[in-house]
Amino acid sequence: MIKEQLETVESNICRACSKSKRNREEVTLIAVSKTKPVEDLKEAYACGIRYFGENKVQEIMDKYPQMPADVKWHMIGHLQRNKVKYIVDKTAMIHSVDSLRLAETIQTEASKHQVSVPILLEVNVAEEDSKFGLSVKDTLPLAEQISTFPNLQIKGLMTIAPFVENPEENRWVFRELKKLSVDISEKNIDNVDMCVLSMGMTGDYEVAIEEGSTMVRVGTGIFGSRNYQL
Ligand SMILES: *Cc1c(COP(=O)(O)O)cnc(C)c1O
Repeated sequence: MIKEQLETVESNICRACSKSKRNREEVTLIAVSKTKPVEDLKEAYACGIRYFGENKVQEIMDKYPQMPADVKWHMIGHLQRNKVKYIVDKTAMIHSVDSLRLAETIQTEASKHQVSVPILLEVNVAEEDSKFGLSVKDTLPLAEQISTFPNLQIKGLMTIAPFVENPEENRWVFRELKKLSVDISEKNIDNVDMCVLSMGMTGDYEVAIEEGSTMVRVGTGIFGSRNYQL
């Protein structure tokens, strides 16, 4: 079933790319495996998936030793500072940096582990009270501050768009994040790269790709719905 779902997602990604005249290679698919058992991740891995997204530190720690070493783990959920130390050397990218204090903690732990950590700044474009993330106006100042941290590399921006019935309703959110990344990129800040735009989930990844997404985070569309009672 995961294989078929992946084929569907892949063909949707290809369609969105051709519709917007982009190359398929510009878009990385992150399989969001939160709450799912390792058997499901192995099935996706057997189909060629190497990028997995998780939103809990504990889950990354549990799954990390059970999966092949070439898996790239993406931390996409809210990160508590006291847990940074457990995953700083296990994640290929942290998508959810939204405060100076969190960035400082990641810097401290990265330095201890002698690693360099690619990060994204999480922006709450739609300004939803229920969500983490920076306001659009606070993003550039934070990028400037973090740019001086030797063990952090800002690679771009991430957003979680609102839950909507029609993905078209989120088009403006993706357009806004793209615009912000261009604005920041034009400042030419040392050590700040804006090559990654992590936007688009199961409900809206095609629209996100049309608006410039370079990383889509798809969970339900690959692994089926999640059961949080388990
Ligand atoms: C759960 C989650 C996703 C995937 O959501 P789906 O709607 O299941 O595709 C993407 N991004 C983040 C940050 C998530 O927490």
